[in-house]
Amino acid sequence: PSTVRLLSSSQVITSVVNVVKELTENSLDAEATSVDVKLENYGLDRIEVRDNGSGIRAEDTPVMGVRHFTSKISSHQDLESLQTYGFRGEALGSICAVAEVTVTTKTKEDDFSTQYTLDLTGNIVSQKPSHLGQGTTVSVQRLFKNLPVRRQFYSNTKKCKEELKRVQDVLTAFAIVKPELRVTLYHNKIILDGFLPKPGADFTLTSSSSADKAFIYVNDRPVQQKEITKLVRQHLGALQAEEARGRFPTFVLRVSVSAAAVDVNLTPDKTQVLLHHKEALLTAVEDLLVSLYGAQTS
Ligand code: ADP
Ligand code: MG
Repeated sequence: PSTVRLLSSSQVITSVVNVVKELTENSLDAEATSVDVKLENYGLDRIEVRDNGSGIRAEDTPVMGVRHFTSKISSHQDLESLQTYGFRGEALGSICAVAEVTVTTKTKEDDFSTQYTLDLTGNIVSQKPSHLGQGTTVSVQRLFKNLPVRRQFYSNTKKCKEELKRVQDVLTAFAIVKPELRVTLYHNKIILDGFLPKPGADFTLTSSSSADKAFIYVNDRPVQQKEITKLVRQHLGALQAEEARGRFPTFVLRVSVSAAAVDVNLTPDKTQVLLHHKEALLTAVEDLLVSLYGAQTS
């Protein structure tokens, strides 16, 4: 029976993107207005999706990971008026069969959140109180640990990067369709958010190159990161009309990393910071720019 389970799970859950999409859909079904997705090592070591939605009711938690349990339909009629992404009750159970899963959840009625550890069959093996606010956090560790061939696919960095791009695309698609939703994607503990000009925006009203404004923050500390400014300019510059060349819009980019990843003592005015993961940061910025403005042609 466990082989059957594994086979059918590996058809539902085929990739990191797939896991992120299913978990994000669950968050949206729970009416979350904020979804944070964290990936470690492209999601292979850990995928975490945290939301501020309704939480899972205490009576549902024992069965949440059990195949075909869903709290979203209770009758046949419901299927015809379905407003949710999920209704099959397959995702969580399938993920349990191919990874190590914990679910931390708190409803409005609960006094505190509880973290549940699920086993391969989706049953709860242990639980403990935790400190999170209302909503649900699903953590998926060691995805495909029991599927060596699938795992092998991810030993190729190029494939991992393509997959990360697909994760961004999925989240961007949800963010576009639900403008009231805040979605963030963190990869290897770097968070990027900011205020970048819209593709095709009129750049001519903005400052000239000598006085242009690039606001870059690392953990809320204003810094100068010439490489980032250069990257943003390259991407915007390539989009600009000939007569607007040399003029650039204001942009804001906030980078959040764990405190251990930054060294602020590089220069006396502290505006130059040393990032231990600079390459990863530049790659993340580049990915963000490509997803906003498309790949550079030149
Ligand atoms: P489905 O979405 O088809 O119902 P899933 O396997 O994705 O099935 O989830 C099983 C059940 O677990 C859901 O019906 C819901 O009750 C609960 N659940 C899972 N994730 C969340 C979440 N983020 N917030 C609230 N409930 C959740
Ligand atoms: Mg679902």
